Amino acid sequence: MKLDAKIDTIKGVGKKTEELFHNLGVYTVGDMLLNFPREYKLYPHPASPAEVYNALQSNPAMLRKEWAVEAKAIKAPVVRSGRRTSVTILSFKQGLLDIEAIWFRSEYLRSVIKSGHRYILFGKCEIDHNKLKITQPRVFETDAYQRSFENRLIPVYRLTKGLKQNQIIKAIQNIFENDLEIPEWLPDEIMKEYHFPQRNEAIYQMHFPDLEEKNIAAQKRLAFEEFFLFLLSIKMNEQFQGNARNEYPIHTNEDFSKYLDKLPYKLTNDQSKALQEVLGDLSSPYMMQRLLEGDVGSGKTMIAFFSMLAVSLNEYQTALMAPTEVLARQHYLTYRKLLDDFGLGLQIPVILLVGSMTAKEKKEAYAQIEHSKNAMVIGTHALFQEKVQYQTLAYVVTDEQHRFGVRQREAFMEKGYHPHILVMSATPIPRTLALILYNNMNISRILEKPANRLPIKNCVVGESYLPAAYKFISEQVCAGHQCYVICPMIEENEESDIRSVEEAYRMLQEQFQGAISIGMLHGNLKADEKNAIMMAFEKNEISVLVSTTVVEVGVDVPNATAMVVFNAERFGLAQLHQLRGRIGRGDAQSFCVFVSDSESAKERLEILNKSNDGFEIAQEDLKRRGPGDFFGERQSGDMGFGLADPYRDSDMLKAASKSVEELQKTDPKLLVHNELQKRLEEYREHLAENLNI
Ligand code: ADP
Ligand code: MG
Repeated sequence: MKLDAKIDTIKGVGKKTEELFHNLGVYTVGDMLLNFPREYKLYPHPASPAEVYNALQSNPAMLRKEWAVEAKAIKAPVVRSGRRTSVTILSFKQGLLDIEAIWFRSEYLRSVIKSGHRYILFGKCEIDHNKLKITQPRVFETDAYQRSFENRLIPVYRLTKGLKQNQIIKAIQNIFENDLEIPEWLPDEIMKEYHFPQRNEAIYQMHFPDLEEKNIAAQKRLAFEEFFLFLLSIKMNEQFQGNARNEYPIHTNEDFSKYLDKLPYKLTNDQSKALQEVLGDLSSPYMMQRLLEGDVGSGKTMIAFFSMLAVSLNEYQTALMAPTEVLARQHYLTYRKLLDDFGLGLQIPVILLVGSMTAKEKKEAYAQIEHSKNAMVIGTHALFQEKVQYQTLAYVVTDEQHRFGVRQREAFMEKGYHPHILVMSATPIPRTLALILYNNMNISRILEKPANRLPIKNCVVGESYLPAAYKFISEQVCAGHQCYVICPMIEENEESDIRSVEEAYRMLQEQFQGAISIGMLHGNLKADEKNAIMMAFEKNEISVLVSTTVVEVGVDVPNATAMVVFNAERFGLAQLHQLRGRIGRGDAQSFCVFVSDSESAKERLEILNKSNDGFEIAQEDLKRRGPGDFFGERQSGDMGFGLADPYRDSDMLKAASKSVEELQKTDPKLLVHNELQKRLEEYREHLAENLNI
């Protein structure tokens, strides 16, 4: 079996299943293998219903635990059809105790579970009218459970509606049962130095770990190889070697500071310092390569704006690239307004360029870009599509760089542009790591927040708090403010205990019965639908916006003062901190409610509760993790890597950086590392394709 074979060549993957896998971005056998589990579950030794009953009675926290219960199926199953879903109920018995199992939309179980047989049920239990109840359990034959599950780490994958965990597990098992070739391309000397497992072994251990240690070794190896390729690709690209002569020296005069005076507020000290550093670079003998780090809400946009203004006033073109259309459009409006306020609206054109514009609109934008030599062009990566011809693109600012991933910069350089570069990010990455990731860029930091801000008030609560959350939302809306409600998924799927945007939207509709206007925003909407919703929210025509993390990056609606995050355990702390950054942007007090019933997550969420500082949060989070605490959520936000996380895997990042340096000394052209050379070429091709530029 080949890695690039289509997944319909895998035994058991038919047309319908194939499409479901496509929803997860899995097209080839290789994709399937690299679709690693979201987390692992340890299946325990089965308990008897009596043991579970006693444990639940003595400690309510046990309600959140998942149990393996052994029992015999007794009465025939009952299927009740409700308004939205059907419920299958089966009774089991063990000793004197009955246990009732309940499934939603699972009529097929009637023909699977045989009366009189013993089974292991795995799921959450509760006591209802003196009876033990287990909801949506996974069912195992007793001996199969003992043989292949008990005391083992079992993978848990991301799902999509209609796809079940078992189907994914089976598909991957079937791949490994074939003759499969997974080439090893890491140089021998590196394999030896770090005692890494072979690539095929590492991938196997990711899906079906024999031992936790082997799983961890696999994770380390795979993180290493991602960093290694990334760093190698940068180092082998001459354009990254810095110290290029400044082709676009920028000068500012006294007039420039008069624009600063026209702002409704004064820049903070850190903002002023960062702006000075950027302007210093722009006029220096060398092209600028700078990273601007600043926590959410610290006012990075102003640095982008004023430095771009300086370049435009020097009659060069500038571009601002944002990771989402929502954010690009928002920046566009902000820039237009500022230039109008400064009386420069006619002198400096601002041009929007995003993927969802019509062909005609794009054509107009291209023409404008070609003809106005000092334009500020704002958009998504549509900015660097082939048809766009810049006159003299002297300066490119990338906002929320972490969202493109650090890799995006490589692709952009390969396209042949050599402007001044400023990348802005809210990811709190320590200086040593930033220097590696950004290849020795200069770094500016904004540490303080604008003075008018009140710290956000946070709380972490269980689902039982929901009625109070509704009340709180309606109070905020009555006071003229707006709210975000964040969910981890768009639509309901097999993971029934996770709230989806659609479900939360329906719940809120039912709750408020039209008294409050509610909108829904997520990645499956068309771009113009998203824009319409976002505009309505900005104008306060929508009071409550139910959304996925699409609002995570950059969105700035200062009137929004409250946020409720469902299933908060599903997000990384860094991501939650980013999300929370959508509120607390104005003078009013803001509130953030993290909802979670997961006991272990609650402890972690307390970190957010206590701190509003991104750096501190990342550090605390790292301290609390053991080496096996790998998955579930990411720590430093999405930096464009697959599995590796620069913060969590900082040891591998440093190791990869060291290995790349050594390799550069011994075999800079990769003449005796053919496999690696081949892999690097693939990597670069893939990069160019994926980024579509
Ligand atoms: P981020 O760093 O997250 O990109 P923004 O640039 O979006 O933050 O700024 C957040 C909000 O703070 C915006 O509404 C902006 O107008 C406002 N702001 C920026 N700088 C200041 C300042 N010095 N004083 C008061 N408000 C500011
Ligand atoms: Mg921003």
